[in-house]
Amino acid sequence: MSKKLLLPGILLFSSLLSTAQHINKIIDSTEVKRIEKILSSDEFQGRKISTPGIDKAAEFIASEFKKNKLAFWGDLHTYKQDFSILKTILTSTTAYFDSKKIDSNSVIAITTQPDISITEKSDYHLARISGKNDLLKEAVTYIEDNKNYLVIVDTSHAKSFNKINRFKKEDITKNSNVIFILSPRIPLSYRVEINHSITQTKLTNIIGVIPGKNKKDEYVIFSGHYDHLGVGKPNNNADSIFNGANDDAAGITAVITLSKYFNTVKDNERTLVFIAFTAEETGGFGSKYFSSQINADKVVAMFNIEMIGTESKWGHNSAYITGYEKSDFGKILQKNLRNTAFNFKPDPYPSQYLFYRSDNAALAALGVPAHTISTSKMDNEIYYHTAEDEIETLDIKNMTAIIKAIAISSQTIVNAKDTPTRIENTSNIDQ
Ligand SMILES: [Zn+2]
Repeated sequence: MSKKLLLPGILLFSSLLSTAQHINKIIDSTEVKRIEKILSSDEFQGRKISTPGIDKAAEFIASEFKKNKLAFWGDLHTYKQDFSILKTILTSTTAYFDSKKIDSNSVIAITTQPDISITEKSDYHLARISGKNDLLKEAVTYIEDNKNYLVIVDTSHAKSFNKINRFKKEDITKNSNVIFILSPRIPLSYRVEINHSITQTKLTNIIGVIPGKNKKDEYVIFSGHYDHLGVGKPNNNADSIFNGANDDAAGITAVITLSKYFNTVKDNERTLVFIAFTAEETGGFGSKYFSSQINADKVVAMFNIEMIGTESKWGHNSAYITGYEKSDFGKILQKNLRNTAFNFKPDPYPSQYLFYRSDNAALAALGVPAHTISTSKMDNEIYYHTAEDEIETLDIKNMTAIIKAIAISSQTIVNAKDTPTRIENTSNIDQ
């Protein structure tokens, strides 16, 4: 049995010891279990966007923020940041090149216009991405150009053609249409008809704030996402609710618990922002909207927390940080955890691009040292995105330990003693 204290050197650091004692009282497993149990309960019906279940979850998170005496964010008079997105759903595609029908799987339209009907006589620029070009890099330049394009993509890109879909942003401000068609040659004549239905979806982030003592204009964000997959097809066990206990009720439990901790300690020089993002599972719309509304230069760091309910591949008391090499955020956290029982390491699953798969990505693209902390064994997390992701499969004691570790690791950033280096601004291309 380990007798390791959170912070050794007791005599030299007696003030830190009192923090350590403090932390065990505030971040305790009974409280963590209480929050996690409510968030992952059947009452919230899997917290899918646009359902009464997720609205109830939002109410619960807001009530916890209120209990922890958080302030409102910016100009808001509530913890809820409401916004809406336009969703375009493709209803039909018809394309002919030199009177020959093109398979609809070979057509991708990036547009927010419901109906498009064009021929070679239309005012569209014809472009081509050859086999030698980098498909996604070229695709972005046409999408960003604000002109209408018909882009012929060489069939040697067939395998990665579908990746263009990732640029389908529900972006209401853009008026141009870019249509990509896989074809070995440029047609002399063509006819393309694309029909979409467009629907508006209302969404809500939940945000609470602890203003900084002196550096009010410097923000440190603690976040997770509260949406999940909803209700699936009934299965043999008769449980069809995807409760998402680990993904990401665990992250939201951490965010709420950390807000309670920092509100009790009250020693933050910088302003702390606690966010429960919506619509992560459907495209990260919550974090994208939030980041479109702020001056990213003011955000000093972002601790995004995803799936910390199971032990990591290294066992108890350890977690990993995505995008570790992109800033010195991870090094600062490791330094603050030195001589504690806890250990944060670089993401061991780089081939899964986890850095780009969560809510940190939107802020990181703007240069913010925004990283995700997780314990999820992405090569062997058996309940990931299944109806079995239930509270019973979580290790609440270890989860409580990880939340403490996040609190301790963030201390010098919260207190403005450390400022992580910025991430290279990669807006759009890497998302
Ligand atoms: Zn998640």
